[in-house]
Amino acid sequence: MRLQFQGAAREVTGSAHLVHVNGRTILLDCGLFQGRRSEVQEKNRRLPYAVDRIDAVVLSHAHIDHAGRLPYLVKEGFRGAIHATTATRDLCEVMLADSAHIQEKDAEFLTRHRKSAVEPLYALRDVSTMLTQMAPHRYRERFEVVPGVHATFSDAGHILGSASIVLEWEEGGRRRRLGFSGDIGRSGLPIIRDPEPLTDVDWLLMESTYGNRDHTSVEGARDDLARIVTETVARGGRVLIPAFAVGRTQELVYDLHQLVHEGRIPRVPIMIDSPLATKATDVFRDNTGDFDRGEAMVQSHAGDLSELFEFDQLRFTPDVEHSKALMRSNGPMIVIAASGMVESGRILHHLLHSAGDPRTTILIVGFQAEHTLGRRIVEQRESIKVFGDEIPLRARVEVLSGYSAHADRTELQAWLDAVRTSSPRFSDLFLVHGERDAQDAFIATLAARGIRAAAPEPGSSVTR
Ligand SMILES: [Zn+2]
Ligand SMILES: [Zn+2]
Repeated sequence: MRLQFQGAAREVTGSAHLVHVNGRTILLDCGLFQGRRSEVQEKNRRLPYAVDRIDAVVLSHAHIDHAGRLPYLVKEGFRGAIHATTATRDLCEVMLADSAHIQEKDAEFLTRHRKSAVEPLYALRDVSTMLTQMAPHRYRERFEVVPGVHATFSDAGHILGSASIVLEWEEGGRRRRLGFSGDIGRSGLPIIRDPEPLTDVDWLLMESTYGNRDHTSVEGARDDLARIVTETVARGGRVLIPAFAVGRTQELVYDLHQLVHEGRIPRVPIMIDSPLATKATDVFRDNTGDFDRGEAMVQSHAGDLSELFEFDQLRFTPDVEHSKALMRSNGPMIVIAASGMVESGRILHHLLHSAGDPRTTILIVGFQAEHTLGRRIVEQRESIKVFGDEIPLRARVEVLSGYSAHADRTELQAWLDAVRTSSPRFSDLFLVHGERDAQDAFIATLAARGIRAAAPEPGSSVTR
């Protein structure tokens, strides 16, 4: 068996790992590299492997840094199966269509900038073709990926449909099992089930995004949300929440629903101002079978789980006109709008309208990368640039880390401990999906406990 690390190696985006086994090649994930447009443009055009030599893809989840290059792989000639959970397939349909649109915009920008035609990485038709190659599976269903190699998905607890993967085959009369964590979520996250550690693996590829950091608790985040909304409404202001349209938005809606239900926040309008979030919420409604039956809110809506995303105060704005009308209306409200890092989308219009108003609260619930407007808001700069206009930042800024979809250092260790305990033949741990600092710190933390881990460099390979 040979492993090749072709993306999310010593960094967090572009997830792509090759497994060469039984004379076949399986690709785990085919994610987009994200970051500065000029830097990632070339990187994304180099495919992880010769396209005619990849036999199948097994996909961990629908996030763009894991699935975002699949349409390009197909555009370049890949005709094999792409295995994923059913919810991941449904989310890919929504998210990759959006990604194709962004690719077209990026190409337009680069064409103007470089004054020579730049072709988009892929278009909507490539997404359509790709979807026909997707093979959906249930969690825990064992299926054949290539002759002699089987795979099973288990809950990763990260976003709807997210999975950890085990590949299994016979070698020299022995059963071999390779584990891939995918992105590991947190216990207690709203809606989705808790992560389920893999069992009985020989080798493990494991994410390490927050190998150097702990988050506040999920429970604490809900309490902070209640406090922030109550304070802002008392001032007569708006709560603006930039959030990823898929996952974070539905979790916030779910928690706000619970807080309304418990009478812990005032009954003000809650506006979901994002077409992508509206579509993604429909995918949640179609996949209620994956919801966490252990949660009180899920139990109390067991009759019709799609009602979790329907309550009196909640409005999904169907178009820009409704969005503008709501923006102009008076009075306190909660607005959830993309993008998560405040780089584009309708959140910008809301900031233009309300960031200069000291009654407003801007609530940051996700990681804000360098060079993004979101990061400048977290840093509480005196003014921010929106659509080319410099506007004063007089709004209050609050940051909640409890809504992270990623396990923190303590949770990663607990997950790993559970895997190791159930794996008598465990031999190698390869850390992927982490920046250098986070990985080096995590390796040191593990070494102090007598656990050896490697963080493979991009392009490197190992044979076992
Ligand atoms: Zn993810
Ligand atoms: Zn990821």
